[in-house]
Amino acid sequence: MAVQKILNIGILAHVDAGKTSITENILYHCGEIKQIGSVDSGTTHTDTMPVERARGISVRSAYVSFKYKNIQINLIDTPGHIDFSTEVERSLQVLDFAIIVISAVEGIQAHTENLWLAVQKMKIPVLLLINKIDRLGADIIQVLEDISKTFTSSILPYQRVQNDGFENIKILAKDFENQDIELLANFNENILEKYLEEEEIEKIELIRQFSASFNRAEIFPILFSSAKMGKGIKELLDFIVDYFHAVEYNVEDDFSARVFAVRYDEMLGKMVQIKILSGSIAVRNMVYNQRLGVNEKVSRIRKQYAQKQEDINKAVAGEIVSLAGLSDVRAGDILGRKKIADNNTKKLNMPLLNVQVKAVEEKDYSALARALQILNDEDPDLDFKWLKDENELNIKVMGEVQTEILMQMLENRFGIKARFENPTVIYKEAPTKSGEGYIRYTMPKPCWAVLKFKIEPLPSGSGVVYSSEVGVNNIKQKYQNEVEQTISLALEQGIKGWEVTDIKITLIEGEDHEMHSRPGDFRVATPMGIMNGLQNVGTTLLEPVLAFKIKAEEQYLGSIAGDIHHMRGTFESPVFDGNTFVINGLLPLSTSINYAVTLASRTGGKAMYSTSFHSYQPCSDEQGVVREFRGISPLDTAKYILKARKALQ
Ligand code: GDP
Ligand code: MG
Repeated sequence: MAVQKILNIGILAHVDAGKTSITENILYHCGEIKQIGSVDSGTTHTDTMPVERARGISVRSAYVSFKYKNIQINLIDTPGHIDFSTEVERSLQVLDFAIIVISAVEGIQAHTENLWLAVQKMKIPVLLLINKIDRLGADIIQVLEDISKTFTSSILPYQRVQNDGFENIKILAKDFENQDIELLANFNENILEKYLEEEEIEKIELIRQFSASFNRAEIFPILFSSAKMGKGIKELLDFIVDYFHAVEYNVEDDFSARVFAVRYDEMLGKMVQIKILSGSIAVRNMVYNQRLGVNEKVSRIRKQYAQKQEDINKAVAGEIVSLAGLSDVRAGDILGRKKIADNNTKKLNMPLLNVQVKAVEEKDYSALARALQILNDEDPDLDFKWLKDENELNIKVMGEVQTEILMQMLENRFGIKARFENPTVIYKEAPTKSGEGYIRYTMPKPCWAVLKFKIEPLPSGSGVVYSSEVGVNNIKQKYQNEVEQTISLALEQGIKGWEVTDIKITLIEGEDHEMHSRPGDFRVATPMGIMNGLQNVGTTLLEPVLAFKIKAEEQYLGSIAGDIHHMRGTFESPVFDGNTFVINGLLPLSTSINYAVTLASRTGGKAMYSTSFHSYQPCSDEQGVVREFRGISPLDTAKYILKARKALQ
């Protein structure tokens, strides 16, 4: 079977660099759309949600398929605001190439740096596109310098810009210059030799090495554009088809795919957007969901074009398509039975705030819960929890922009007016020392589950590790499976009311009973045994800590250093550049939640401040927050058993 060339390309940038405008221009140039939509008047083809159009920012990733010079390209436009980073992370997982857009005026912005680090970690080939070269204040030399200082010096400007200062901007092809040849020589002995001997090097040889090095993410070409004036777009497309080597996928293998987004279509309901990693899929195939261990049937396969959707019968590895019929699938799921390696995704950000969602009108309460469930399938990082006993709906968010957008989506899409209340920092807890937890659950009859756990602390960032040393003669395998599957539930709330992490749990002793044990007994017993253990060893609160970067004028150094100290922060020695300085350091989230505002007023809005999640670090109970157990604690044995048994029925 002839495999056609498919290129899956993501377009990434800080908000406002021009991603969506560039996408529009590309679609126009390829004849997919008759008119270039405008972000400013809300008529683009990828920002289709009302909130996106109204605010002019992309909230969701959107993919669009088109052809250029007979090569199939799937372009993924991603949101640029840090609050929507999980959406970007899921897109990164399915990219073969990335285009990072940088504004010629603003230069490298905070979020762009995070994106760069993420694609570097995943070794994705990257093209850097410097946009807005038409705008007043565009400073290409400065941006190039910035890139080689902050990103990498392995850059190769592929064009040059001619500007006569009267809106007469030209993007011109450029020959390889000495410094380009030196760069290429790093990866090619032949070129190096000829270069040193001052022999002539054929252009084709340089082009070959350039192409190879770009596709291996060793060299990063730089192109220019003005999306506003429609310049540089044809050159960009030509570059893509000439230099992007399609990744080869195994079409004959078993089917596997990664779900990078879940959307709702008004006609078809839930649409699952996947990239096929191996094999192929056809309509009416059953697909296996690894997270749930269930099969569901594909009712339709669709391709998304700029202005139409096309139903197809079959799709193969390398393609990006949407599937209908898979009602249980969530964003991030893996389909098919093959084991898929996590390709080194870097966490760009994570939700660190808990908020309670309330319906403005009491009658909307259950509709609101259903809507949040749907939003949670689209973005599982919301970690939606419906605490029925407390009548509470809780989600996790990254920041204010996200809550604002969620509020608008609830209203526009579901017709529900909602309020978001009490944003609180999400703490965690970890065992302070090693010890044991024990439960003998044999009363009230009928039940029988005896468990003893060893509990040990693990280094920061380790998460949860579970194993069993108990033989199946003492506890049958099917009961042991119940224990293992209940561990994560048991760790949702520790003795200080927060999720327990950095913990090693080993089942070291226990027994079942030939007559009296049932699987449910082990599900009821496990949280009691674990909580008993946590109580025995005690836990330490962990608070989220952010990495920050501040750039400001020298005169503010003293007061800013004072602020950081006051917020329990730490920082490295400042780096000076002219009369400005840059400092990098760490700040607890809880003390710095409003610091952007404080800093802006201190410096008359002239400082640059950016943060990203760094790690969870120990803090005292006084510095953090200790919460009451929500619901009935497994330590409150009699009540807990009663409730847990009821839930099993
Ligand atoms: P995104 O947030 O990265 O998707 O950026 P948008 O495409 O939404 O563009 C942000 C703003 O910059 C909009 O007002 C655009 O009209 C404007 N813009 C985009 N590209 C250019 C450009 O090349 N030149 C100028 N002058 N403005 C641009
Ligand atoms: Mg956009």
